[in-house]
Amino acid sequence: MPDLAANMVEPTGGFPLNNKMMRYNLFVPRLYNWCKSLGFERGKIMPSRAFCADESQGFPIIMLAKHFGTFPFSHGIVGGIVATDRHVPHAAHGQDLVLVQASHVGYDPETATFGKYRRAQTTHGEYSSNCGRVQQVFAWYKREYDFAQHNILLHHIDGQKVVIVDNQLLREDRDEGLLLRLDKILAVDPAGQRIPLKMLSTARVFAPAASFVEQTGEAVFNGVTPMTIGANLTEDMFYFQRNIPKVEEGVDQLEQNLIRFMPQIVTSAAPTLTAAQINTQVEFDRTFRTIVKERTYKGKKVLFIAGLHIDISPQAGQLFPLTKYIPWAAYVQDRDGFYYTLEQDELVQTLTQQSADNPDQIDLEIAIEMMAQADEVRIQA
Ligand SMILES: [Zn+2]
Repeated sequence: MPDLAANMVEPTGGFPLNNKMMRYNLFVPRLYNWCKSLGFERGKIMPSRAFCADESQGFPIIMLAKHFGTFPFSHGIVGGIVATDRHVPHAAHGQDLVLVQASHVGYDPETATFGKYRRAQTTHGEYSSNCGRVQQVFAWYKREYDFAQHNILLHHIDGQKVVIVDNQLLREDRDEGLLLRLDKILAVDPAGQRIPLKMLSTARVFAPAASFVEQTGEAVFNGVTPMTIGANLTEDMFYFQRNIPKVEEGVDQLEQNLIRFMPQIVTSAAPTLTAAQINTQVEFDRTFRTIVKERTYKGKKVLFIAGLHIDISPQAGQLFPLTKYIPWAAYVQDRDGFYYTLEQDELVQTLTQQSADNPDQIDLEIAIEMMAQADEVRIQA
């Protein structure tokens, strides 16, 4: 039976960052003013956020509270997954509704690398992975890819170019692991068969496909000793299989979102950035439909925006990260049921046209002081 999965063209994800990002202190007042321009009513808007559990996501939450004048509803689970079963209470808690989704990635400006964040509250202020959940999911795929990179060898025998492939990597009936798209790497004979030239103890020897030689160049086959395939194992040459529990919005939703895109992620120069972007894209696509269908959102104004947080670790003297927001897409719904989506360029343009000045923003220190000064309310128990 033909292997359908092996012949499927896998999608690629990600979106541009350049000229799309804005600092959080500009993004949130612009978002608020955009809501106002759409007829959202001051003091009647319930903001909501679907962010990761990480403390680095706290500054965006504080900014949402300041500009919308209320603490945002919690609509997310770890990894930046939208908890769509919370649409019902969200809809009940406000007249006009806003949902902000973001996946996140750390950024270290000193080394210009993505995926790291300095934890100032640890004993020595160490760096750790960010998003930690994305890194955790990614690790297994990275190990599988590393194994394949080191266990497919390129060499020559009797003047003929050869590819030596580990036996396990040749087994196409595996439920878990990295599976090769053999047609991209190995030649077939005129009968369409892929007969090994030689059998070794743990591997088999084949002739390379002409397209593969064209892609890698001849030199990689000419080494004195066999050379590992390494980075020549490109994303179009493999895919992954893994048994992931299919629980909607459970702990494995992030992995469900990413598995199809893992060849692109493991070969990316910045894997955690690519993974976070793809998760944002999948979550927007997955959530948009649930809002359209949600009965309790009917007859209400709803704005749903999905994007990426880049968390730049707090520098000396800073309490919070310098968070940048990169919008990906938005969904706008009116009370009469009319709705539309905005793609990235249009969304960035719409936001940047808004004023970053928000006269409705609250002073959190004054609000806290007022609560401290308020008359005591005795609880009657
Ligand atoms: Zn995270």
